Amino acid sequence: MAQKNIPLFIPTFRTEECLEQIRECLDKGWTGLGFKTVELEEKWKEYTKLPHAHFLASATAGLDLAFNILKEENNWQDGDEVITTPMTFVSSNHAILYNRLKPVFADVDEYLCLDPKSVVERITPKTKAVLFVGIGGNAGRYAEVEKICKEKGLALVLDAAHMAGTKLNGDVPGRGADAVVYSYQAVKNMPTGDSGMICFKEAKFDEIVRKKSWLGINKDTFARTAGKGAYKWKYDVEYVGFKDHGNSIMAGIGLVSLKYLDQDNNYRRQIAAWYDEEFKNSGVKTVPVAPGCESSRHLYQILIGNRDELLAALNENGVYPGVHYRDNTEYRMYAYAKGTCPNSHYVSEHTLSLPMHMKLTREDVKYVADTVKKYAK
Ligand SMILES: *Cc1c(COP(=O)(O)O)cnc(C)c1O
Repeated sequence: MAQKNIPLFIPTFRTEECLEQIRECLDKGWTGLGFKTVELEEKWKEYTKLPHAHFLASATAGLDLAFNILKEENNWQDGDEVITTPMTFVSSNHAILYNRLKPVFADVDEYLCLDPKSVVERITPKTKAVLFVGIGGNAGRYAEVEKICKEKGLALVLDAAHMAGTKLNGDVPGRGADAVVYSYQAVKNMPTGDSGMICFKEAKFDEIVRKKSWLGINKDTFARTAGKGAYKWKYDVEYVGFKDHGNSIMAGIGLVSLKYLDQDNNYRRQIAAWYDEEFKNSGVKTVPVAPGCESSRHLYQILIGNRDELLAALNENGVYPGVHYRDNTEYRMYAYAKGTCPNSHYVSEHTLSLPMHMKLTREDVKYVADTVKKYAK
């Protein structure tokens, strides 16, 4: 019955350019760590002006490594607390649990990001860090949270999985954070197949993450002796590390995605402006972008009374939106915090993410918005 078919995400790849990158790897016989991974790290540092960047298999790995290294280097204890948001993909909060730290959930504000007031209320003597998620590319009140962390001596990790290309007051958000973690997962706004980047503020943590993401192997020893083939095996292993580093095939695709990132984000912001125009004076509540923030616009979110009913109606009309996110305290491992974040609970029941990708046209946006307006209550 539905003639339209408008999905939430369709990642756009410049196929020929990606294939050229991959061909270079295959011809050279180098698809692993090094080569393109180093090139993407250099290009990412140039693009963000962040001091360090290490390319990883995923943002989940990056968040895990961020807490692993911060905990070990700062002598945090098992059960120490990290203030975090329930409005995120579970990977953010799992990364805290992986490291035997305790996620303490603070509530979100009108930007669906951590509310600084709620963060302050959740600080205890056991609090060691805050994990801020820039949902949909929105920076929310990130700057205030950064200030609180500085004042209270707390570490700050920015989950920037949606924030490739986001600017806050003309700059990349996260320069004051201890670690910024990006995702280049298949449907993020800078897609590869699966990969991510961790940008530590401190050079010494960047050095550690390079070892820990490759089983703890000290590549400096390797590099020193690599010239003399006979000593290649004589590297040192300093940590019980992980197999978390990225590879040259993914980095090659990432290099192409990065080249088009600003152009694509511009079009995302154009789509968002079209949605805004369609919803003006319509009674449909849209989630605002924080002042001073130029969002990557990974998401365009609305809040409606009859979300589940509207979702079904949209599906019947060939529109397939998403929900970002279900309040994480509804999952069994975080259920101890159920009921502590009423705004997040409300958003979880009422939010819908409308289609947002390069293949959307002005007419598609009008069709989606008209259908929303027809069925929203
Ligand atoms: C996708 C996502 C992640 C995890 O990214 P991967 O690269 O898939 O591991 C983390 N946090 C948020 C908010 C995400 O949306």
